[in-house]
Amino acid sequence: MGIFGRLFKRGEQVCCAKCGRVWKVPTKVDKGPRVFVSVPRPDLPAGECPRCGSIYCQGCAPSKPPPPSAGFYHCPKCGVRLDVTPKVSSILVTHSK
Ligand SMILES: [Zn+2]
Ligand SMILES: [Zn+2]
Repeated sequence: MGIFGRLFKRGEQVCCAKCGRVWKVPTKVDKGPRVFVSVPRPDLPAGECPRCGSIYCQGCAPSKPPPPSAGFYHCPKCGVRLDVTPKVSSILVTHSK
């Protein structure tokens, strides 16, 4: 798995517990205001499950309520709302710039 060897070289990474998509966590984790991406981006992380600790991408996590209201993503396994942790938030910030 060449891609993993490459990503492991620098910094931490997280991956979607369902489809295995990998994101690199920025070395400087932003602890500022939380970011909510209004436009769904299936390629970005939706959040971290506070119960099982899994991270899911927006393409894998069901969103409730559905758009246009700002939905919250839920863990497909536990059914609880995914938490946008500083780690997840900083990944979103990096990709939405
Ligand atoms: Zn996924
Ligand atoms: Zn869970």
